[in-house]
Amino acid sequence: MKCTRCKAPAQVQLRAHNANFCRDCFLFIFQRQVERAIEKERMFRRDEPVLVAVSGGKDSLALWEVLHGLGYQTTGLHLSLGIGSYSDVSTEKTAAFAAANGLPLITVRLAEAGMAVPEVAGLTRRPACSACGTMKRHYFDQLAIDRGFPVVATGHNLDDEAARLLGNVLHWQLPYLARQKPVLEPTHPRFVRKVKPLFRVSEYETAIYAFLKRIDYVVDECPNAVGATQLVYKEMLNRLEAASPGSKLTFVQDFLSRAQPVLPAATGDGPPQTCAQCGMPAFGEICGYCRLMRETEQKRERRAASGAA
Ligand SMILES: [Zn+2]
Ligand SMILES: [Zn+2]
Repeated sequence: MKCTRCKAPAQVQLRAHNANFCRDCFLFIFQRQVERAIEKERMFRRDEPVLVAVSGGKDSLALWEVLHGLGYQTTGLHLSLGIGSYSDVSTEKTAAFAAANGLPLITVRLAEAGMAVPEVAGLTRRPACSACGTMKRHYFDQLAIDRGFPVVATGHNLDDEAARLLGNVLHWQLPYLARQKPVLEPTHPRFVRKVKPLFRVSEYETAIYAFLKRIDYVVDECPNAVGATQLVYKEMLNRLEAASPGSKLTFVQDFLSRAQPVLPAATGDGPPQTCAQCGMPAFGEICGYCRLMRETEQKRERRAASGAA
């Protein structure tokens, strides 16, 4: 098996692209795919500081590594979710990566704010992933705005996008489909642009990239994600991909080029009010995050009072 690009012995077989690559050519092709996605979709310019949401997993660390290598100005943002040892290891690996590469990193420890995900989810009786999502969205926007970043980049890869697309199509979620894009422009002055530079590279390719670059990442999936519907969709798509290589990329690409332009445009209106507590956009008197925080505090007080009685 020879490298499609340089004819040296190949190490990586990419059936989706009907190509084989040696180590160096694979790394080059991976980086070029990311760079092209950034430029073609106009995600950000070289003079714009980019806040990279880093979980400590392979996708977000590989993304950060590639962006830094391509010469973009990056700062990492890590939310330590307070999900037991999973979060401890994630936070540790993220900090070690930032230190080894001399990159700036902002770490928010939710447990220190009394907002550890398992506790908030338990007290407010919400699914952990829903509470977690509310907190992530809040911190990504607020920290980006407060620290002058016009854009937040996340490590969502092709598998994530294909699984999400399948879920949205199965339920014909037209408003979600209208907003499923690699670049999402802000709908409010206190929101920032959200981009997914890895949306065209598969989880498999990202894993190989992280391996070849010796990136030390947290291998375990979030314990809350086990059994999530998203994982079922990913399994289905992997079976499809095995039978017909390239299916995932075609599914996502053709959706973006053919279906999305004919969907009703995503409504450009953001939340109309301002949160009385944190100043972020809100649909009511306070924003979703502050509502979650208030509810958590009330439940905690009630629990403490009943315990004391
Ligand atoms: Zn080669
Ligand atoms: Zn708020």
